Amino acid sequence: MMNHEISKKLFDKAKKLMPGGVNSPVRAFKSVGINPPFIKRGYGSHIEDVDGNTYIDYVLSWGPLILGHCNTRIVNALKNQLENGTSFGACTEIEVKLAEKIKSAVPSVEVIRMVNSGTEATMSAIRLARGYTGRDIIVKFEGCYHGHSDGLLIKAGSGALTFGTPDSKGVTNETAKNTIIAKYNDSDLIVEIFKKYGENIAAVIVEPVAGNMGTVPPKEGFLKTLREVTESYGSLLIFDEVMTGFRVSFSCAQGLYGINPDITTFGKIIGGGLPVGAYGGREDIMRLISPDGPVYQAGTLSGNPLAMVAGYETLNVLSEDPSIYDELDKKADRLCKGLKNSMEQNGIDVKINRVGTMMCMFFSDCDVYDFKTATKSNTDMFAKYFNAMLKRGIYLPPSQYETFFLSTAHTDEDIDKTIEASFEAAKEILWQ
Ligand code: PMP
Repeated sequence: MMNHEISKKLFDKAKKLMPGGVNSPVRAFKSVGINPPFIKRGYGSHIEDVDGNTYIDYVLSWGPLILGHCNTRIVNALKNQLENGTSFGACTEIEVKLAEKIKSAVPSVEVIRMVNSGTEATMSAIRLARGYTGRDIIVKFEGCYHGHSDGLLIKAGSGALTFGTPDSKGVTNETAKNTIIAKYNDSDLIVEIFKKYGENIAAVIVEPVAGNMGTVPPKEGFLKTLREVTESYGSLLIFDEVMTGFRVSFSCAQGLYGINPDITTFGKIIGGGLPVGAYGGREDIMRLISPDGPVYQAGTLSGNPLAMVAGYETLNVLSEDPSIYDELDKKADRLCKGLKNSMEQNGIDVKINRVGTMMCMFFSDCDVYDFKTATKSNTDMFAKYFNAMLKRGIYLPPSQYETFFLSTAHTDEDIDKTIEASFEAAKEILWQ
């Protein structure tokens, strides 16, 4: 039995000091009905909590740690930078190197601007798209998450082809009026939306592989339709690759599917575990950003040298070994097959979606290809499974609607242990 005494004490204290006791909502473990463990350290594929329990980590800081915790190369690069200063608010060589590295991997990115989070990247990309097109409306997809800026915290209105409504208190109806919500993987609907509003649409923003309603890959032709329809109406296509960037392949989702967006947003992996974001794209569009152009955007800590160093070194490691993504893919395939077996052999229906090392096991008997099908999952069953896995030392994301990840630090032994735990967890769910 795991002991969580110190975590519990800390959480009681944290709840008095911070909303929900956390600095980001999902960390509160609300949808799985338990207190969160407080994490003390990470090493390779593992994390350890303040009570000394260890876990194989499939959250990996929600995606950034594709090389696992405390990769020696990243730690050394950070130490070196640390001794030379943590922030200057001035130009550095390392930001130029990272920009060059990203550009060489992602040809649609001709010019790039670093920011501090995925939220900042998408928010700035939307402002840029509006500045470039002189139009107000943006289209986003139900179930896709692009950070918490007002215009992107919008849910579907009452019918198809209608404008959205605020998804959070504090977002005005005025703001919601400029966001149309479409359905992921529904190419016909997006064409309809463009027929009606195309002349006024500044941009379509999409997760090229959705990772925030569980994992949902794009259907064949979906991204191509987005590319064609935006192009023919003079709107911009924004790929939000905050999660997929350098995760699904070194050329990101756009390389994997062969579709070039006008603007791409990044985060997570390009900061190697430090706070970062970036947006980049076609030169004629990006030149509108201040100080080259009239679209304002700035940041005290943007291009922070520690974040740049960690990101640059991460991309170096990923690009040096040409087999790295294949190896990751094989490991992820074995893990998913094992998890599926563990459920099927116990008569539990699940659907697993996976693109590279982005994956999700939905407790559902139907295919998951959009928000509606994702939300048919049995979240009570997921919560039971999550708890059964956690107490066996497997740390999954604490919600049915999150993606889990693998890193290069995960070993075959880790995968075996996880599959074994899943067989036991399946049996435990059935007893309950
Ligand atoms: N876009 C996507 C696709 C994301 O997954 C996230 C965060 N998970 C964001 C944007 C927001 O990034 P951040 O949390 O760094 O603001």
